[in-house]
Amino acid sequence: MENCNEMFDVIVVGAGIMGSCTAYQTAKHGKKTLLLEQFDFLHHRGSSHGESRTIRATYPEEYYPKMVLESAKLWEEAEAEVGYKVYFKTSQFDMGPSNKKALQATISSCQKNKIPIRVLDHNQVHKELLGKFRLTEDWIGVVNEYGGVIKPTKAVSMFQTLAIKNGARLMDNMEVVDILKEDDGNHNEDDDAVAVLVCTRNGQRFWGKKCVVTVGAWMKKLVKKVTSAGGGGGLITLPIQPLETTVYYWKIKPGHEDEFKIESGFPTFASYGEPYIYGTPSLEFPGMIKIAVHGGRPCEPDERTWAASAVALSALREWIQSKFGDLVESSGPVLTQSCMYSMTPDEDFVIDFLGGEFGKDVLVAGGFSGHGFKMAPIIGRILADLAIDNQAKNVELKHFSIKRFEGNSKGNAKDFDDQVN
Ligand SMILES: Cc1cc2nc3c(=O)[nH]c(=O)nc-3n(C[C@H](O)[C@H](O)[C@H](O)COP(=O)(O)OP(=O)(O)OC[C@H]3O[C@@H](n4cnc5c(N)ncnc54)[C@H](O)[C@@H]3O)c2cc1C
Repeated sequence: MENCNEMFDVIVVGAGIMGSCTAYQTAKHGKKTLLLEQFDFLHHRGSSHGESRTIRATYPEEYYPKMVLESAKLWEEAEAEVGYKVYFKTSQFDMGPSNKKALQATISSCQKNKIPIRVLDHNQVHKELLGKFRLTEDWIGVVNEYGGVIKPTKAVSMFQTLAIKNGARLMDNMEVVDILKEDDGNHNEDDDAVAVLVCTRNGQRFWGKKCVVTVGAWMKKLVKKVTSAGGGGGLITLPIQPLETTVYYWKIKPGHEDEFKIESGFPTFASYGEPYIYGTPSLEFPGMIKIAVHGGRPCEPDERTWAASAVALSALREWIQSKFGDLVESSGPVLTQSCMYSMTPDEDFVIDFLGGEFGKDVLVAGGFSGHGFKMAPIIGRILADLAIDNQAKNVELKHFSIKRFEGNSKGNAKDFDDQVN
């Protein structure tokens, strides 16, 4: 075992978007920060790689829009600091059957959060969106200005660059296999003699005053391992299920390519049907549009099939044919990319102190359930505040606690149907 004698203020484990935003924030606060990643930086085996993520403020839960709007500012601040763009604005278009509870909840959540929206019937949608989306009479559309596309791999790279610029140390090919509370042998001069020891598979040991675990789909496995030694709080099994999912790109019919671009006013969109389908304008690959299903199949993060889902494909073909008619080739996608979700039973995040023997010294942030990317900058700030001051500022975290699952496997109660079944 190689012992690093330095004491870090914060060690962040996992360099996806959440870990990279956290390391940036702690470094920016002048804290000595170490970010450890098990694979190469910017790898494609987790959840934060690829070419596009939607940013939208339309959520049926009332607690997300505020976080999205705050994040939108932080995305722009980071862009200004680094000097290039990762966030491309457009409007957001939500659609679904007018009696769909989740869509009705979204409308009321926007109203409560003072997010200006326009609710349109199928004729108005046809007019307003220049005949792009064909809705049946029983469907409505909801338009608002807070949509857009974020480029994920570029965004992770941006926050890692900014973390380094602010003094953080970043190390890849460092798989963390254990996190312990140990006597630090006086490394930690300002505090008591106990600190957090982070051990990697290749035999390195790093000391930290605080540790933030942001390991995506590996969260349940790592937390189980770390708490299995039988210390103070005993074994913790977080209800975070990895799902394997696929992103699909479809060919726009010749002559219509420009109509699907942001410059032509094409929005990011979500369809509240069965299944929930989402998409982004034609941006990253010319002449193609991304349309995919929210959800996937359970997997072990290290034993994936990487294969597309036949069920999702058949639903997508039908949806594209009914909504875009002759404008998009619906017989099959032309490009696919594999990715992973980390699902919680209520699709809400887990952001909390690990507790037990680790008390407030180890934090976990995971279970982002296929919708966390847009909020990564605020999540990084929350985690930095929790690591530095033990409390978050101007944000309510009760919906994200580990405790919500105690004696209640479903977590937060919701008065609308699940998005992922
Ligand atoms: C197909 C798809 C589409 C999505 N669309 C959207 C969208 O439109 N809008 C949106 O807001 N969100 C979206 N999301 C969700 C969003 O991408 C995720 O919520 C987010 O990327 C999660 O980031 P993370 O940092 O938690 O996880 P990850 O990116 O997986 O990062 C975790 C990192 O930890 C590392 N790690 C794991 N174990 C260890 C260990 N033991 N030691 C060291 N390192 C370790 C991993 O290698 C990985 O790099 C989508 C996700 C997918 C898959």
